[in-house]
Amino acid sequence: MVIFIRPVRVEYKVIHTLDYVLKADSTQGFGFSLKNGKPVFDHPSSEANYQWCLAHPDEVECMGESRDVYSLKLSAVGICECGQEIELTDDSCGCSLCPYCGRWHSPLGQEVAPPETWKDGFVMFWYEVPAETF
Ligand SMILES: [Zn+2]
Repeated sequence: MVIFIRPVRVEYKVIHTLDYVLKADSTQGFGFSLKNGKPVFDHPSSEANYQWCLAHPDEVECMGESRDVYSLKLSAVGICECGQEIELTDDSCGCSLCPYCGRWHSPLGQEVAPPETWKDGFVMFWYEVPAETF
């Protein structure tokens, strides 16, 4: 049984951009990342595009600031029976393989037989997490 260090979690990242669209084709334009309300440029061409937008108000329209939220699911992390820290992914039939010792684990950290030995091959299973854990 894996000893959990960190449960599965979802992290959210909010990206603010300043958007411009081309007046000739509103399906195209530019988006510039904002930090503390000011554009930040990770590439010289990005800054050149921003300067171009400022210099050509007849060709682009500033749409103001937009906000996108991205989410990323992070796998649970635990200590395998072999003593190594591992991620509990669900990449292989809902289970994960310890890269150090070759043991297979369910998402709940229980050691399971290797998927290739399962009688019916791929097996989908569901488990319930008590609501009070949220
Ligand atoms: Zn292991």
